[in-house]
Amino acid sequence: MNKGNIIIVGANQGALALAYKLGSAGFKVTVFEKKDQAKVSYDWHDCMVPGAFDYAGIPFPPEDCLSPKKCWTFITPKKTDSLFVNVPEEKLDIVVERRPLNDFLYGLARDCAEIRYKTPVADLIIEGDRVRGVILKSGEEVYADLVVDSSGALSHLRASLPDDWGIQKLLAKRDAFFVYRSIFNVVENTAPPKYTNQVYMKHLDEPGISWFIYDDKKLTSDVLIGRVGELTDETIDRALKDMKNDQPQIGDKVVRDCQKAVIPLRRPISKMFANGYALIGDSAFMTIPMMGSGIACGFMAAKILTDVLSYPVGDPFGEFNLYRYQVGYMREIGAKHTGISMMKNWMLSAPTDAMDDFMAKRVIGEKELEAGGSGQSIKLSMGEIFKKAFSSLDHLPTLLGLKKMIDKMNGVMDLAENLPDEYDKAAFEKWQKEYDGAFKKSGK
Ligand SMILES: Cc1cc2nc3c(=O)[nH]c(=O)nc-3n(C[C@H](O)[C@H](O)[C@H](O)COP(=O)(O)OP(=O)(O)OC[C@H]3O[C@@H](n4cnc5c(N)ncnc54)[C@H](O)[C@@H]3O)c2cc1C
Repeated sequence: MNKGNIIIVGANQGALALAYKLGSAGFKVTVFEKKDQAKVSYDWHDCMVPGAFDYAGIPFPPEDCLSPKKCWTFITPKKTDSLFVNVPEEKLDIVVERRPLNDFLYGLARDCAEIRYKTPVADLIIEGDRVRGVILKSGEEVYADLVVDSSGALSHLRASLPDDWGIQKLLAKRDAFFVYRSIFNVVENTAPPKYTNQVYMKHLDEPGISWFIYDDKKLTSDVLIGRVGELTDETIDRALKDMKNDQPQIGDKVVRDCQKAVIPLRRPISKMFANGYALIGDSAFMTIPMMGSGIACGFMAAKILTDVLSYPVGDPFGEFNLYRYQVGYMREIGAKHTGISMMKNWMLSAPTDAMDDFMAKRVIGEKELEAGGSGQSIKLSMGEIFKKAFSSLDHLPTLLGLKKMIDKMNGVMDLAENLPDEYDKAAFEKWQKEYDGAFKKSGK
């Protein structure tokens, strides 16, 4: 029995996972993706929590999609120290090759959903207070009970929604992480680096990070340069030069597809549903706001949305029922990400000297960096912090700022988790105002 017609816009990992989940659950699913199938995914590998497959009920990918994960080392902003985060084997992320992962997910989804590549969606069909379908670039109109927008951080469909629906249209510049990633050869006869996976925090005193991953099997040097708000070619050149200076292994020959991209680096969007419409993945800002990982978040959201549609309360595709999707997501992971987002903003705005000192003294230490990077709650005790930072009293204003941020972070995580249980427009709008306002007030 067809439980309803669903359109998904975009066909990256979260979208394919959702198509598989919904198709298997008895919905008629059509996916529209503007790119050619071979070009949807980047030519590189990603880290993700392996538990997301189990959680979402998605089969685990075959061995040839995977490679062993190494632990990260965080370099302090002034390079005075490096923090090696030794994660036990069983808690390590997996490393997935993105294109083979997409092929694997496509293989699962195509048996229960129609997937149309090279088919851009031009617009939404909106009638009254409901999304009714999409208009393809070809002019064809396709109607459905629900349109799931998985078209990425800069979704133009989200931007076209009526103002009074209360869904944020644009990704603010301060929440956009602009990244350049390139995989180079390794210079012959260079000794391996001390640490294989290195993250430069606030690299060159700029708002962002850079990373270097040395692969001794494939003999590649993976370089990422990411900055919040803006990334110019001049910044890329400067950062690359600095890293090459530190890491003589990095060669000049690009050996895999080089790309620039934008990742939302912030808490989840404050409203991710409307009648006949839901957001998922980067279009709902579903990433871990420390490093920008979003694949596992998309899988988890796909499971939550499928459950909400499979066991609806009232109209499955109406806002009353779809609101339960947002509640499920926020309580499962979104609230934790809200806290991480606040911490990340503080780290970016703190003076470099103080940040360097705080990391070197482990005020922000291995435990916090591991939690933030893997999307877990960051728990900081002020007593412990003051003890560790005892000799940093020259950074007292920053220390007090950190205390203020921690209090606020705990409050905002509570707020994010405690959105109303059931959809009541007025109660939800009040919650939404507080949730958005918590970040606006501090300008962060
Ligand atoms: C350099 C870099 C490193 C990253 N590292 C990691 C990592 O290690 N781990 C991790 O989990 N995540 C990582 N991420 C994040 C991850 O890429 C995303 O969170 C994840 O891919 C989810 O993206 P998405 O499908 O929601 O959006 P996108 O990947 O942006 O996909 C949107 C899709 O929609 C299509 N589309 C857009 N508009 C239309 C339209 N009008 N009609 C039809 N189709 C449309 C696009 O072509 C695209 O295929 C990284 C990202 C970058 C850029």
